[in-house]
Amino acid sequence: MKKHNFSAGPCILPQEVLEKAAAAVLNFNNDDLSLIEISHRSKSFVAVMDTARSLALELLGLENKGYQALFLHGGASLEFLMVAYNLLNTKAAYLNTGTWSDNAITEAKAFGEVLEVGSSKHKNFNYIPKGYTIPEDVDYFHCTSNNTIFGTQMKTFPETNVSLICDMSSDIFSRQLDFEKFDLIYAGAQKNMGPAGTTLVIVKEEILGKVNRHVPTMLNYQAHIAKESMANTPSVFAVYVSMLNLQWLKEIGGIPFIEEVNNKKAALLYAEIDRNPLFQGIVAKEDRSTMNATFTLTNASQTAAFDTLWKAAGINGLNGHRSVGGYRASMYNALPLHSVQVLVDVMQALESKQD
Ligand SMILES: *Cc1c(COP(=O)(O)O)cnc(C)c1O
Repeated sequence: MKKHNFSAGPCILPQEVLEKAAAAVLNFNNDDLSLIEISHRSKSFVAVMDTARSLALELLGLENKGYQALFLHGGASLEFLMVAYNLLNTKAAYLNTGTWSDNAITEAKAFGEVLEVGSSKHKNFNYIPKGYTIPEDVDYFHCTSNNTIFGTQMKTFPETNVSLICDMSSDIFSRQLDFEKFDLIYAGAQKNMGPAGTTLVIVKEEILGKVNRHVPTMLNYQAHIAKESMANTPSVFAVYVSMLNLQWLKEIGGIPFIEEVNNKKAALLYAEIDRNPLFQGIVAKEDRSTMNATFTLTNASQTAAFDTLWKAAGINGLNGHRSVGGYRASMYNALPLHSVQVLVDVMQALESKQD
């Protein structure tokens, strides 16, 4: 039987998506060829790329609003660099909420002045800084909507005239937001959209082409837009599986539907973390992520007993990140509510073993 997969990334994908992907590897579109041995310029694959790009915009409500969707290589980590390369002239503001934003700041410093307008680094990123100010004269403001490693999530975004850029790698397509507030959104596929190997970039075209430097072709958003995400051979398989997953999401009711499911899963688990005296949360309650819930045992002597129980229950991927410790339950879109119930049952079983 399939395990209850709480892995932080690469993530769980719906079983029907995996089945369709497996079939396409053997025989794509009944063409008697594999998806991964045909030309990316073939009609069949160009249709996949076009569908994936338009579905991404459609699900976010950004169709016909001046945005382009791209599927690029290099992971979200390359976007740390590309964002600054394409958009940073003199000065940019960054909110430092975790390892990934910290890395984004490091990359941006090679291109101009970086103002860290807020940071929770001194508290090992266990909350989202609030009440910070974004100067009007910066080229953009960069933030990370969900901090995969630490388990915090931005619930609101600043009201500002400055261009908003957001790394949404681990919560894109998980909740409704006013996506039009953002000029550029990027997300590595492997957290909540598909397999590793491609990165979704959603960019408002009018913000591009204003930087005073030459941007090399493969790092240039305008070049990728002109080539319709085919400047070189795209990650055919990763784009295809992402497309299948976006189709799955659309069929079940899109972001409004999945957001409700995600809220139910998170409420169920956090309620148990707060109720069960053997467990405690790690981050500020108001900043808790609906995607990645981090927690520890109140008494570390229970570690072996808890680990044995959850592994026996068929749970995978519950260990916390090495920089946080404890446990992390990642509850991406494809994780069923039932899997969270199995985890909660295990937490209660540990409690009842105490007496
Ligand atoms: C995983 C992750 C990254 C890094 O993604 P890669 O695709 O591995 O480069 C960046 N940002 C966030 C929020 C992540 O969760």
